Amino acid sequence: MVNFGQMATSPLAPTSPKPIGLDILDAEGIYLRDRNNKQYIDLISGIAVNNLGHRHPSIIQALKDHLDHYLHAMVYGEFVQEKQLAFAKLLTEHLASSLNNVYFTNSGSEAVEGALKLAKKYTRRTEILAFEKAYHGSTHGALSVTGNDALKSGFGPLLPGVFHGVFNEEVSAELINHNTAAVIVEVIQGEAGVRNATPSFLKRLRERCTAFGALLIIDESQTAFGRTGHLYAHQSYDVIPDILVLAKALGGGMPLGAFIASGQVMNVLSHDPALGHITTFGGHPLSCAAGLAHMQALISEGWMDTVAEKEKRFRENLSHPLIKEIRGSGLMLAVELGNTALREKACDQALKNGLLTDWFLFCDTALRIAPPLTITLEQIDQACAIIDKSLNEAE
Ligand code: PMP
Repeated sequence: MVNFGQMATSPLAPTSPKPIGLDILDAEGIYLRDRNNKQYIDLISGIAVNNLGHRHPSIIQALKDHLDHYLHAMVYGEFVQEKQLAFAKLLTEHLASSLNNVYFTNSGSEAVEGALKLAKKYTRRTEILAFEKAYHGSTHGALSVTGNDALKSGFGPLLPGVFHGVFNEEVSAELINHNTAAVIVEVIQGEAGVRNATPSFLKRLRERCTAFGALLIIDESQTAFGRTGHLYAHQSYDVIPDILVLAKALGGGMPLGAFIASGQVMNVLSHDPALGHITTFGGHPLSCAAGLAHMQALISEGWMDTVAEKEKRFRENLSHPLIKEIRGSGLMLAVELGNTALREKACDQALKNGLLTDWFLFCDTALRIAPPLTITLEQIDQACAIIDKSLNEAE
């Protein structure tokens, strides 16, 4: 562990007063290993990124293979880059036929920015409906649609024309009108502490968007690529977005985001002005090579079929009396303790006991369970035993 006294003089910018501070030497599968050779079960996957664990052989091989060709060749959109093209093809093959055009970015925040700009340009409208406790990223536009005032403190003024409805209340859909360019929503609000949207809520948003010509943006940065047992969480809801935002696991451990829409909608970005939405590194060939290998392995190795059984195993094992509730779907779970100090102690003890978990931006009373989908049932039993022990010690 890093000495926090030393961190005050670190040349790296801090993001919190008390970072976890693990000094990682290497990682493999579900394990992280620090510089003192201590091993940790990774129950958070770099926050829903490493869905096939650390250093999946297919991803490493794809990166090595592409390294022999080129790194950065040209800003996004100008050259034909084989891996970008192949990955866009694979992504769209597994989506509704209307979602047939991919714009790659570097991150989730940038994908949200692109999606918001696209909706404004396409609809020629200015207003956006988002939801309380949503998290969409840290850039100005993405922060504007994020639904937490504390997180915005000190960063205003943000985007005008953004309204926040209450998540899962169908009456929120009444806020959609002829001025609405877009509605942006998560299928499961991750940072709210894992809150699943109800099917009727998403359906109502879809209906109102269609009725008023607003675009429905679904942000699946956390929920995609098997996390809930489905390739995309919205596919179990029978609702098709106009724009889908992807990030995190998209790049198989490399930085990558994307917003995906129909070619007809996306086409407005190509003119008036030309180059009105561009990115130097978006869709980096190495990131696309890794993302492509990740998605191919996820599908061909059948990991999504294992998720329901693994969720069940976590739910069965996590029966400590201090646990008030377990929320979520698949391997995107929140273990609610109802108490911040207890949760903090439980995280600290878990780390000492060789397990990494954390909490949520807008819910610091619950533990995050988002392990690689490759975790075995035996490893789940071990992880749950450590959580149990850590809760006993934290009490
Ligand atoms: N949307 C959602 C739903 C997210 O969970 C996140 C990241 N936690 C983002 C957007 C932002 O992604 P990034 O950190 O890659 O900018």
